[in-house]
Amino acid sequence: MPYSWRVSYCIEYLNYSTMIPKLVTFDCAETMVRVPDNWSIGTFAVDCARHIGLKPSQEDGLLYLSMYRAKLPEFVEVNRSRDAGQQQMFWSRLALEWLKATGQPIGTLGALQLAADELGFGPDSILFKLYDDVVPCLNRLDSMGIKAAVVSNWDYSLHRVLKMFGIYERFVVVKASLEEGIEKPDPRLFEMTIAEAGFASWETVHVGDDRVDDFEGAEAAGLKALLIDRSLIGPVRPFIHSLADLPEAFDWID
Ligand SMILES: [Mg+2]
Repeated sequence: MPYSWRVSYCIEYLNYSTMIPKLVTFDCAETMVRVPDNWSIGTFAVDCARHIGLKPSQEDGLLYLSMYRAKLPEFVEVNRSRDAGQQQMFWSRLALEWLKATGQPIGTLGALQLAADELGFGPDSILFKLYDDVVPCLNRLDSMGIKAAVVSNWDYSLHRVLKMFGIYERFVVVKASLEEGIEKPDPRLFEMTIAEAGFASWETVHVGDDRVDDFEGAEAAGLKALLIDRSLIGPVRPFIHSLADLPEAFDWID
């Protein structure tokens, strides 16, 4: 075989052996957005109350958590409604009941909600931090003509968190499990996302940090999948240790 033929054969082989996706779906928590290890909605309620000068105890935080859990069926419905008024009302009622139950002044309700907005979704959020590699990764995918979407086990606030970091418009679809009533690893959440984005499963790679929810869930839906583990020193298939490992890690996929 002439040398030039061998070269063109190799180039052709490389093209076909590497899967360049048309769509990359991302998990959110611990893939793009860092959430504190010991985070709970009860400790956040205590943080907000202390921020406005109240003195709730850790037990008060546990009470908030149990009150929230008791309302989970209602919270699921509120998410499904996609109604901002219902969502706001849910948190107002819960906060008011908590203030009453813990003997804290109910006149602080408005200030408490403002504190939750600021500490949760403000520029100095104590809950969420965007990993530094997210925007460069989205830029690289964009330069390659690859679309991005989000598939996350999250409530309706997923949209707000992504807007807070200025990246919401970078995604063709943002899918929050609680709005759909379906959680990963259920493959239907992936299927809904890629159908809405207008791509097929075989054109899509999912990136997430959870072996069951992200890797097994995505593969069950027919997607290719990569796992991210930021504690690793370097990429070890199928783990990338940073979103900077994309798109090179697409070479692993065939
Ligand atoms: Mg995650």
